Amino acid sequence: PQTLRPLIAANWKMHGGLSWTSKPSDFEAIYPSSERRHLDVLICPPATLLASMNDGVFLGGQDCHAAVSGAHTGDVSAEMLKDAGATYVIVGHSERRAGGDTDEDVHAKAEAAKRAGLIPIICVGETESQRDAGQAEHVVSEQIKASVPDIANYVIAYEPVWAIGTGKTATPDDVDEMHNAIRAQVGPDVQLLYGGSVKPANAESLLALKNVNGALIGGAGLEMESLAAIARAA
Ligand code: PEP
Repeated sequence: PQTLRPLIAANWKMHGGLSWTSKPSDFEAIYPSSERRHLDVLICPPATLLASMNDGVFLGGQDCHAAVSGAHTGDVSAEMLKDAGATYVIVGHSERRAGGDTDEDVHAKAEAAKRAGLIPIICVGETESQRDAGQAEHVVSEQIKASVPDIANYVIAYEPVWAIGTGKTATPDDVDEMHNAIRAQVGPDVQLLYGGSVKPANAESLLALKNVNGALIGGAGLEMESLAAIARAA
């Protein structure tokens, strides 16, 4: 049984626009908030869409700069995301880490989120070669040590890099083992999300695990029907 409130989070990555067909208001029609009082649903669209969305789900950013403002061309601060309607912000997504974000950067971004009044979703996860070398738990535990600042309210998303956007999902046994290890490290109050090719077909077996408190969803979160089907499994 889940003791923490489930969080079902969609990361739209660089997809979507003002005239796009997928809209949070459709989510509300498919799975009304009156039927999902037991869980939270979050959509993280591109920052350009945040201010135009206000439809019964939580909204989040996909990344933020560590500074409040300044000469950082192309970047968005946590304060700007908050101003545009965000409640959460993803930090340390593997696609950002692959682009150069270090644990130190992720730590600073998570602190910025807290400073702005946002809840950071801090992503961690091992590569395939690290898993094959038996290093998965060690890698994740070191990432958590280095990326998570001393703040009260944050979410961890465990996303094995080899399972993101690949159609390969970690087995429930692997996820269970990793989430139990993360739980032992971070304590009882932190929501732990699994991410990596979550779809309606595998959501139930993953969300049934004791220390899986939700999911971070890429591809399947672009369609409101499949996002709702995953949310219904929580
Ligand atoms: C993600 O981008 O965080 C993710 C898990 O993507 P997908 O669900 O497409 O694997």
